[in-house]
Amino acid sequence: MQDIIEGFLKFQREVFPARSALFKRLASSQHPGVLFVTCSDSRVVPELLTQREPGDMFVIRNAGNIVPSYGPEPGGVSATVEYAVAVLGVRDIVICGHSDCGAMTAISSCMDLDKLPAVDAWLRHADAAKAVNAAHSHATPQARLNALVRDNVEAQLANIRTHPSVAVALSQGRLNLHGWVYDIEKGAIDALDGSTSPPQFVSLGEHPDVRAVRTRADDAARPERASQTG
Ligand code: ZN
Repeated sequence: MQDIIEGFLKFQREVFPARSALFKRLASSQHPGVLFVTCSDSRVVPELLTQREPGDMFVIRNAGNIVPSYGPEPGGVSATVEYAVAVLGVRDIVICGHSDCGAMTAISSCMDLDKLPAVDAWLRHADAAKAVNAAHSHATPQARLNALVRDNVEAQLANIRTHPSVAVALSQGRLNLHGWVYDIEKGAIDALDGSTSPPQFVSLGEHPDVRAVRTRADDAARPERASQTG
């Protein structure tokens, strides 16, 4: 823990003074353009991967980058999605899975979760992915896991569309959805191309314009960062 505290002291001593204008501007308001949903895994660092600054992204993290379908007893994820879309007005939502995901490994390997009842219950929100994955054959356990990570991103994209705030924003053409899978070893991202049937994951590096669901015309240039931080 001492390294964590020393890290903060370094931030306070070196980083904060150098960025004081940014933090002063952020002190009383935020206007993130993106809701980024990803796994709690320590190896997935959204701001590092996307080179974003404080104030740029609203973030939800949990085991398995899961978004429970909307229901009569909405929880913390649902409340956060609602706030991001209905209040902050984010224009894009990214659901980002990753390689070697422990949550997806638990499902794909049929791990005994008797001693982890909360995990067991939580992963039920990935049952659609589990069913899709089981309906296909896979050459190796690794291939099964890799496919499940992708199936889960698609399942969570379907789940998030059941949220009223998301459904309204999509119907009004002011939101795009993105499904990503980050490869930890390669530093690469595959993104779901919703324009093909069935949708396919393609390299984001080679296809930077793919969207899982596109309803909003993207900004012509990409000046948002400059205008937000300038
Ligand atoms: Zn994970």
